[in-house]
Amino acid sequence: MAFNVAIDGPAGAGKSSIARAAAKELGFIYVDTGALYRAVGVYGLRNGIDNKNAEAVAGMLPHISVELKFRDGVQHVYLNGEDVSEEIRTPPASMAASDVSAVPAVRQFLFDLQRDIAAKNDCIMDGRDIGTVVLPNAQVKIFLTASPEARAMRRYKELQEKGAKDTYEEVLADLLQRDYNDSHRAVAPLKPAEDSITVDNSGLSLEDSIEQVLSVIRAAL
Ligand code: C5P
Repeated sequence: MAFNVAIDGPAGAGKSSIARAAAKELGFIYVDTGALYRAVGVYGLRNGIDNKNAEAVAGMLPHISVELKFRDGVQHVYLNGEDVSEEIRTPPASMAASDVSAVPAVRQFLFDLQRDIAAKNDCIMDGRDIGTVVLPNAQVKIFLTASPEARAMRRYKELQEKGAKDTYEEVLADLLQRDYNDSHRAVAPLKPAEDSITVDNSGLSLEDSIEQVLSVIRAAL
């Protein structure tokens, strides 16, 4: 049976950097499920669809195929055959992902894909509902979080490195809005699974956060 680690938590908690490094260390694949919601959101943006309109969003799903491929352990996300791994990382794509992720049909649409990967591979999968909904039987569940200010500062620095012009205040406001959306939606809201271990890494370096997550996983292996 595949060994599955679920890592959930709010935007900017460092889930992807930490999960990617931990997976590499363990020889597991790292699955970033946010990329799936982002790809669906990007389709909506490209086609001028109102991503807050559940009916319109559900209506675009028959026109979409989303795939994940792993090259040298790196995940690439494909939207209708096109690699959109870069395009999904912009702030509008983040907000679009948060909008479409509230639509039940979208969650249903992406469910089997996530389940199949986890059934076939030892993996660390990160998202918002992995421990609660997608992989309720994961051997390890971690809820990774940090203060909004610490998370916004990390995101802000990442965007600056890419040359984006967003201010810290804009990044913080976006993040608080996404936190609110993600934890108040009716389906699969962001919340810790009952049997998850919470890791708050507000004051921790990336290296120490990785170590902490690895120690939780190793204890279960
Ligand atoms: O993790 P990331 O920031 O890339 O996720 C983008 C958005 O996708 C989140 O704000 C959230 O609304 C949504 N998402 C989700 N369920 C997941 C992963 C992401 O609803 N498992």
